[in-house]
Amino acid sequence: MAQNIIRRVDAESPLSRRVRPGEALLSVNGKLIRDVLDYKYYSYDRDLLLELRTPEGKIRLVRVRKREGADLGLEFETYLMDRPRSCANRCVFCFIDQNPPGMRKSIYFKDDDARLSFLMGCYITLTNLTQREIERIIALHVSPVNISVHATDPALRTRLLGNPRAGEAVDIMRRFAAAGITMNCQIVCCPGVNDGDALTRTLEDLKGMYPAVHSVSVVPVGLTCHRAGLPEIVPFAPESARAVIGQVTQFGNKCVEELGTRLAFCSDELYLTAGIPLPPDGFYEEHVQLENGVGMLRLLEAEFETALRRADAPDGAPFSIATGAAAAPMIEKLLFSAKKKYDKLNGKVYTIRNDFFGSSVTVAGLVTGGDLIAQLRGRDLGARLLISADMLRREEADFLDSVPLDEASAALGVPIYPVACDGGALCDAMFGLLPPIPQPAIDAEKTEYNKYN
Ligand code: SF4
Repeated sequence: MAQNIIRRVDAESPLSRRVRPGEALLSVNGKLIRDVLDYKYYSYDRDLLLELRTPEGKIRLVRVRKREGADLGLEFETYLMDRPRSCANRCVFCFIDQNPPGMRKSIYFKDDDARLSFLMGCYITLTNLTQREIERIIALHVSPVNISVHATDPALRTRLLGNPRAGEAVDIMRRFAAAGITMNCQIVCCPGVNDGDALTRTLEDLKGMYPAVHSVSVVPVGLTCHRAGLPEIVPFAPESARAVIGQVTQFGNKCVEELGTRLAFCSDELYLTAGIPLPPDGFYEEHVQLENGVGMLRLLEAEFETALRRADAPDGAPFSIATGAAAAPMIEKLLFSAKKKYDKLNGKVYTIRNDFFGSSVTVAGLVTGGDLIAQLRGRDLGARLLISADMLRREEADFLDSVPLDEASAALGVPIYPVACDGGALCDAMFGLLPPIPQPAIDAEKTEYNKYN
């Protein structure tokens, strides 16, 4: 299937009456369109000349004038207008390798695609880029790019990623930095492997690329109970988590003095493992690394408290909230705070143990429908059950284990409302202002990329 074939033309598009579905977009202003990056970059200008090929094979030209930067309103057969690039690594901590067998095929797809990094915020490792692709990122000024760094010592990075090219990343990053490309970095930290001196070196090397390196998150390695045959990795214990937090905080304090930004942040999960209170919301500056669970709980709390101040009386219907072990204490705290304001608020929180991936996996986004049903069946769930929208595939209405939302709802005998990861939305849902229950999307193509890659 040609990937540049137009599937839909938006009714509001200046091309709505001039381009038809089924035509292929070949070039814009004489520039060949190979994928979505070319399309977005070359269609930025106000005056465009499109070269199209009709389904009958005829080539035709269409001129269009629009607002500079406005989208042309074309949808293509595939989101990337190309095949997604898969990774060339064998990371010792790869979460995808730790999935149980028998899940849907897309779960096992290991994407590592610079275009997805730019368009959807996915993290890439830079190990599968050709020189031409590196030059194109620089030429098109694709920015920001999110990079899984893990370690800057070439030998260590090669070992961690199981790829002989992994050590080239720092050179590529320096080229990006010189070209003014912004980079957000993540370090998946494995105790005894890339913490300690290795982490110090990584943080210092990344600091050397500031301001191009805009933020760094340090997240603990995620280990499921499906690791048979995989390299042995020690999970974080409170002591090792405290050591990493101490190291990153010290580094951050130095950065605040020297650069005016903390630059590096530990994820909430690391604080929870360490048993250290989360820093206040202001610590997280712009909250750039929310996707990595950095500052997420404090932001949720701040948003909730703001929403609570303006909340009207609740609808009075009893409700329940199901979440993972990591977020449960914070959700309990928020519910308690809401009950203090309205004692008629009738809600309770259920902590779902992750039997699917193993109890060491505590984030709400990896709670499955099967666990939800097994652990909540027969419990008092009230008139509605609230869950985090992160438990569902984006734009889909099913859980990671493919259990459809409506099936879980029927099994538990209660409507289930997926609430956005936002304190305001959570407050609204507690008080009876409910989000719509999603229906399965007709076009799920965007969701084929792994959210925890
Ligand atoms: S962690 Fe990411 S880059 Fe590494 S092997 Fe898994 S999918 Fe590939």
